[in-house]
Amino acid sequence: MSAKKGLALHTKIFIGLIAGTVLGLLGKALFGGDPRLAWCAVNLANPLGQVFLRLVFMAVVPLVVAALALGVAEIGDIGRVGRVGARTLMLTLAFSAVAVLIGVAGVNLFKPGAGLAPEVRQALTASLQSQAVTRNLENAGKKKGLVQTLVEIIPKNPLADAVEAFEGGLIPLMFFSLLVGLSMSLVGPAKAAALKGVFESVLAVMLKIIELAMGLAPYGVAGLMFSVSATAGVEALRLLAGYFLLVAGALALHLLVVYSTAIAVICRRSPLAFFKDISGVMMTAFATSSSNVTLPVSLKAAQEELKLPRDISNFVLTIGATANQNGTALYEGVTVLFLAQFFGVDLTLGQQFSVVVMSILAGVGTAGVPGGSLPLIAVVLQSVGVPGEGIGIILGVDRLLDMSRTVLNVTGDLTIAACVSAMEKDPA
Ligand code: ASP
Repeated sequence: MSAKKGLALHTKIFIGLIAGTVLGLLGKALFGGDPRLAWCAVNLANPLGQVFLRLVFMAVVPLVVAALALGVAEIGDIGRVGRVGARTLMLTLAFSAVAVLIGVAGVNLFKPGAGLAPEVRQALTASLQSQAVTRNLENAGKKKGLVQTLVEIIPKNPLADAVEAFEGGLIPLMFFSLLVGLSMSLVGPAKAAALKGVFESVLAVMLKIIELAMGLAPYGVAGLMFSVSATAGVEALRLLAGYFLLVAGALALHLLVVYSTAIAVICRRSPLAFFKDISGVMMTAFATSSSNVTLPVSLKAAQEELKLPRDISNFVLTIGATANQNGTALYEGVTVLFLAQFFGVDLTLGQQFSVVVMSILAGVGTAGVPGGSLPLIAVVLQSVGVPGEGIGIILGVDRLLDMSRTVLNVTGDLTIAACVSAMEKDPA
């Protein structure tokens, strides 16, 4: 999603972040407490952010349905290939779940988002004019038990859930999309072809809308950062830095501990030699922020450097580029919980559980393109009562995190390809 000419989009977004923050901090230093500053935040800066966010939000529901159904239909196809498919699926789910849990444990341990004074938070929520927090407070009285929460994952009426996606309907809608994808692969390619074509087209068009909306992101981010820094001051920046370090550290931990262990134990290879062999792939992923763009490079490395059997690696890597995104899953979990802490939204056990499930599914349903996970984060935030505006706060530092999580996404695909190859050789 880089700009055709001039500065790249992510550079412009970063400039938006700096400009909004500096103006906000200056405003707070010079006019702190003056109602006119709050007026500027509400009536000038915030609408800039709202226009950008609304353009993203409107594409989210069709995007999620199409992306998830297609992702699962593809995994379902490998399911038919038998043992290789089943092992790929099992490892994908296991690695994604471990990744999310590492992230979630990190947020609970270090609490990077906690620390804003309650009155600052209140002013911030007011300046962002978000209804999400109010709604969460309203819903707090009607907390459901864990069993009921689990039962309600299965939708009665998916259309109603689509309408309510921002108010808690996302998980049931995801469940429906998942079943649609699974059933597409069960009815077979001939009968599923038309629907697959429709979903592919919906996905492409929605991604285009988001790409167009991203053109406004530099202004949206500037507006939202102005509101945040004029209200919360330097403290907000300190929290943002903590969030950045936590995501980067958790990604590194997953790479160095989880993947290394799997490579040593399941593949019986030296993790160091493995990472050296795929260093070109990792660098491509970092530079492009896109699993899809990196795919040809990983296919080549799997055969020429890692010497994996071609059928298995082609199979696992092609599916994995969209369906196995551990870095993205980890990042989604951390981001949603961080922003919940930032806005002082207490998540119930059920809600935290939803975040974990949604983050794992996000790894399956996210397009392997730069910033592919952002639309999904926006809706997950809203659905657990955290202001979607939070996305404007993290967007400014997102590019570097996007580059890093993409490295993890493709390294995970290669690790699974190597594990499945090793298991096939030694099917004990
Ligand atoms: N850029 C990531 C990828 O291509 C997706 C994301 O997390 O935004 O793997």
